[in-house]
Amino acid sequence: MTTAAIIGGGIGGLATAALLGARGWEVEVFERAPSLPATGTALGMWPEALEVLDRIGAGDRVREIGIDQRVAELRDATGRRLGPRIEAKGATVLISRPPLLAALAACAPTVRWGERRADLAGLPHDVIVGADGINSVTRAAVLGERVDPRPLGVDVLIGRCPGETDTFTEYWGPGRLFGVTPRDGGYINWYSEYDPRAVPDGTPDPDSDPRGFLSAMYRDWAPRVRETIEGIDAGSALHYHSRDLPRLSRIVRGNIALIGDAAHAMAPNLGRGACETLLDAAALADALGPAEAFDGDVPSALAAYSAARKAAGQRTMLLSRAMRHAALTRRLRAPLDLSLRAVAAVA
Ligand SMILES: Cc1cc2nc3c(=O)[nH]c(=O)nc-3n(C[C@H](O)[C@H](O)[C@H](O)COP(=O)(O)OP(=O)(O)OC[C@H]3O[C@@H](n4cnc5c(N)ncnc54)[C@H](O)[C@@H]3O)c2cc1C
Repeated sequence: MTTAAIIGGGIGGLATAALLGARGWEVEVFERAPSLPATGTALGMWPEALEVLDRIGAGDRVREIGIDQRVAELRDATGRRLGPRIEAKGATVLISRPPLLAALAACAPTVRWGERRADLAGLPHDVIVGADGINSVTRAAVLGERVDPRPLGVDVLIGRCPGETDTFTEYWGPGRLFGVTPRDGGYINWYSEYDPRAVPDGTPDPDSDPRGFLSAMYRDWAPRVRETIEGIDAGSALHYHSRDLPRLSRIVRGNIALIGDAAHAMAPNLGRGACETLLDAAALADALGPAEAFDGDVPSALAAYSAARKAAGQRTMLLSRAMRHAALTRRLRAPLDLSLRAVAAVA
């Protein structure tokens, strides 16, 4: 019997488990959380991610719950549109993390919830998959040293607000931006990304008073930004310091493969992290193939996975970083072409 241990039962871990399980692999998923999460922000499932979800058998459920995002647009702080509206080549579906993970878990073999792996000791499996996210413990086993994510120097405040839209809109001003996207469940998703050094003294604290913080930060911005802030569900607000990874020299070693954020955690500015993770899962399952046909040559299979996904994931990571820089620069016009090209390159 061919066996795989998957460290992490998030998007990448559950997707890989479902794909390998369907191909006859005996899969064990170790997830530190006690159960599926009840809360989480909206994630963009781009057309190629939906194709992977279809292969898994979760695509219909995700389309049923999620909301189509058909148009993307950038605007300045006053609401004036910057460049053309970008029509998606196919529907991108926005869905919040809990129902996405539930849809994946329904297609995956049993998960060992509440099992945090401190390291990879004692795992006798043929293949070990590091799907343990941005703070991966598996990464050190692949690289031979610890490589930590690095701060991007921007903070993100993200949450939801009642409403509906089919358009992704991002408003850009010096040192901060505000985004509005579709989301399931009768809500829209909003987020604020800002340079903490550009927060004026006396601004309310984003953790204890997110609405007060946002009202002060976006006081003179477009009416839609201010209306959205008025309606936010303050209890849903999540504040974090944005980080990404340096380009890793390798994403596989021996019988271990890294996928998703463990391999290429990226700035959120292109909304591609979950999508790239699903593409990794599909490429890894393709490289390993059906259990009954597997010849036991794990290093060759993982080399094929790395050839398919290492550069692609890192390219999107770099584009996301470039997009973040363009969005928050104080000289707005100069990098706009670059940003629109970055969006077009992955759209
Ligand atoms: C606020 C926010 C908004 C985002 N918005 C978008 C978006 O709009 N579109 C998009 O595509 N991407 C978005 N992303 C990025 C996206 O969420 C990630 O790229 C994606 O979740 C990566 O999937 P993953 O499976 O690699 O990691 P994760 O989803 O982080 O899953 C890792 C799992 O491993 C578990 N784990 C970690 N360590 C251990 C251990 N030692 N033992 C056992 N289990 C462990 C964790 O509990 C977790 O369940 C966003 C991220 C954030 C934080």
